[in-house]
Amino acid sequence: MVQMVEILLLNSLFLINGSSFGNFSSSRGVRQGDPLSPLLFNIAMEGFSRYLDRVAAMGQFSGFSNVHNGIVINHLHYADDTIFFLNNSRDELHNLFSSLKCFELIAGLKINTTKTRLISIGDCQDLPSWALELGCITDKLPFIYLGLPLGAKANSKAIWDPVLTKFDVRLSHLSKISLSKGGGRVYFWYDKWNGDDPLNISFPDLFRLSKDKYFIVASHISNGSWVFDFKRRLWDNEVNQFASFLLRIGSSPPILDNLTDTRRWSLGNNGVFSVKTLYSKLIQSDGIDNFPYRFVWNNKIPPKVSFLVWCAVHGKLNTKDMLLRKGMTLEMDCIMCGDVVETASHLLLHCKVAYKLWLNLIPSSWCWISPQSLFHLANGWHQMFLNHNVECWNMIPAAIVWVIWGERNVRTFENKHIFKTDFDLIIEAKSLIIVWDTVFGHHIISTEDNWDAIFS
Ligand SMILES: [Zn+2]
Repeated sequence: MVQMVEILLLNSLFLINGSSFGNFSSSRGVRQGDPLSPLLFNIAMEGFSRYLDRVAAMGQFSGFSNVHNGIVINHLHYADDTIFFLNNSRDELHNLFSSLKCFELIAGLKINTTKTRLISIGDCQDLPSWALELGCITDKLPFIYLGLPLGAKANSKAIWDPVLTKFDVRLSHLSKISLSKGGGRVYFWYDKWNGDDPLNISFPDLFRLSKDKYFIVASHISNGSWVFDFKRRLWDNEVNQFASFLLRIGSSPPILDNLTDTRRWSLGNNGVFSVKTLYSKLIQSDGIDNFPYRFVWNNKIPPKVSFLVWCAVHGKLNTKDMLLRKGMTLEMDCIMCGDVVETASHLLLHCKVAYKLWLNLIPSSWCWISPQSLFHLANGWHQMFLNHNVECWNMIPAAIVWVIWGERNVRTFENKHIFKTDFDLIIEAKSLIIVWDTVFGHHIISTEDNWDAIFS
């Protein structure tokens, strides 16, 4: 096993954009978060598990079985958490602790007794004194294991209470979620049940005049209408405020029913969360609603390709200029032409190889002028070709970006790669478009040879 670990540690390579890029040897061991660490942990714990099975097989302690002569479980592992099952016997407990001590000597993995808890199923008078002997503490069922109460009645609703509470706490940060208008437990003035702020913040004057500030929503409803009882009659300016207040809460109050209050996603119509509504809200508030999403997200293009285009449009491709900025020293020249520094705009638009691809994929009668950047291209793409109902028009940039990036990566990272010619790359991009189009049931109206037919 030591050999295995050595091999793992000494033969690490790193990946850049998914391609392997040179070896390095680790010098500082493994840290948490290192993908090696769970693997090594599993290898060690596998040994631990086998060891315990052997100890149990020797009769040092017993586990439990669900059915007669069924499989016997003496321990359960989850990550660094282990549960042992023993009979109600001081001997078994001491045997277990001795064998853990032995494991500690063999493996160097220390068992922390202060974090160890003894829990009895059923009555066990001696438990506290045993815990004292062994330097650990006692606990009782149900206790929280993996986020759920272990040992609670399996069908009890209470099991889910802590889970629901946790969700409630997390969700309460999202201001756009409003409580349903059942109004059973929702404070009329203090809770955020209508709009972005609680009503006591939005209408401080009316709030001051309200008789009971802790009324729930339901107490302000009677016979299907709102009822309010203020400390005195409203003055003129307050009446105006009251009007906008009514406008805010709506003229017809929620219908009182026996349903419990739930959270509703207020951005959609059906109250159910959807990524789409959140996304449009986000781009709206960030002021980037002109982001060329139609250029990037096209359901006829494989998602991994769309994602690459998305990175390119956002200027997030790890081209060499970006890697230099991140502190890596590399050969800076564009691998496609060898002339200038590799930037995303150069590689995908201005490089002579890229230029050839664009020129060959757009209608042949056109004059192609490279835009400044992928972002500029994305914003202008749909205005460029008037007949843009043609599905494959949207696929051209994605196919070109994908083909160039793929070739650029193998040229950069794979020593034995035979470079494709510009012509190969053009054919590859055209075939990609034909394939994507065919997958979606379109008749192939064009081949690489009569490419222009694709625009008709
Ligand atoms: Zn170039």
